[in-house]
Amino acid sequence: MAPGLASDDRSTLLVGFEAATDFDAPLAADRLTAAGVPFDVEGATVAFPGEYRADAAVTRLAHALERDEDAGEGRSTRQRLADRVRPHLGDAERVGFPAILGDAHVEDVRADLSERLDAEVFEIPTGPPSLPGIRLEDRLFEALDEAGVSMTTGNPVVDHETDADGRIERVYIDRNGARIPYRADAYVLATGGLVGKGVDSDRDGPREAVFGCHVPAPDDRMAWSGEGAFADHAFARFGVDPDDRLRPLDAGGSPEFANLFAAGGVVGGADVAREKSASGVSLATGLVAGRTAAEEA
Ligand SMILES: Cc1cc2nc3c(=O)[nH]c(=O)nc-3n(C[C@H](O)[C@H](O)[C@H](O)COP(=O)(O)OP(=O)(O)OC[C@H]3O[C@@H](n4cnc5c(N)ncnc54)[C@H](O)[C@@H]3O)c2cc1C
Repeated sequence: MAPGLASDDRSTLLVGFEAATDFDAPLAADRLTAAGVPFDVEGATVAFPGEYRADAAVTRLAHALERDEDAGEGRSTRQRLADRVRPHLGDAERVGFPAILGDAHVEDVRADLSERLDAEVFEIPTGPPSLPGIRLEDRLFEALDEAGVSMTTGNPVVDHETDADGRIERVYIDRNGARIPYRADAYVLATGGLVGKGVDSDRDGPREAVFGCHVPAPDDRMAWSGEGAFADHAFARFGVDPDDRLRPLDAGGSPEFANLFAAGGVVGGADVAREKSASGVSLATGLVAGRTAAEEA
C-alpha cells in the first residue's frame, strides 16, 4: 500500500473492476482531486479478465490473479488485465487496484503487474472480506505459533480467584459446563466494550463483566445519554479507568488487581465512535498492556 500514499506526488491511475463493486475508481479519483491531493489522479473501471459473475467473491479473483490462469485467447489473467489497463494509463507513474491482488503471493502479482504496466502498482484497502486483513491475521498466527503461544478460543472466562495479596491467581473458563482453571502471573483484559460484552450494565450502573472492575458513570441515569443520536453521550465513554500501566482502578483510584491490565474497547474515557479512534486506542493500549503484563510476569 505504501506506493499509494496521498502525500506522494506521483501521478496516479486508480483501477476498479466491474465485478468488485465496493470500489468505484472514477468516484475515488474525483474525491481525491476535490480534496486537493498533490498529484493528478484518474479512475477507470475495467472488466476482470475471464468469466466471472458480477458479484464474484474477491477471493476467487485474487486466486485467479495469483495462479495467473488462462483467461482466454491464450493469454493469462495478468497479461489480459495489463492489456485492459494500459489504454487508461496516460502519464500515470503508479496504479492502484482494490486490495485483491492475491493472497499468500500478492508480492509476485504486484511485481508482475508493475513490470507489465511500467508503473508501480499498489493496493487500496477495501471493506470485508479484507484480504490484507486476512494476510495480517495469517502472519499474526504464524508468529504466535513460532513464539510457542498456545490459544484457546470460544470458551468464556466465567470466574476468577485472588490470593491473599489481592492478585488474580487463576481464572476459570467454561467449557461445555466444565470449569477449567488457567493460571498466569499476569492477565490482559481485552473483552471489548458495551458491544463486545466486556462492559455490562443495569439500573444500578455499568461494570466490567469478568472481574467486576469499577466503571465510572454519572449517578443520575438520565445523564448517561445526551439529546440526539450523535450527542456527546456519557455511555459512549463507559469502560474501566486505567492507571499509566493500564491497570483498571477502583472507585478510590487504586489498582483493582496488581496483575490485571486492560486493552481495547474495555478501556473507557474516550468516545471512540465520535473520535473515529477505535482502532488507534485498541492498538496503542494493546501494545502497552501486553508489555506491562510481560514485565509483571
Ligand atoms: C458494528 C461495529 C463496527 C465497527 N467498525 C469499526 C471500523 O470500521 N473501524 C474501527 O477502527 N473500529 C471499528 N469498530 C470498533 C472496533 O471493532 C473496536 O475498537 C475493537 O473491536 C475493539 O477491540 P477489542 O479487541 O477490545 O474488543 P472486541 O473486538 O469487542 O473483542 C472482545 C472479545 O472478547 C471476547 N470476550 C468477551 N467476554 C469474554 C469472556 N468473559 N471470556 C472470554 N472472551 C470474552 C469477545 O467474544 C470478543 O471476541 C467497530 C465496532 C462495532 C461494534
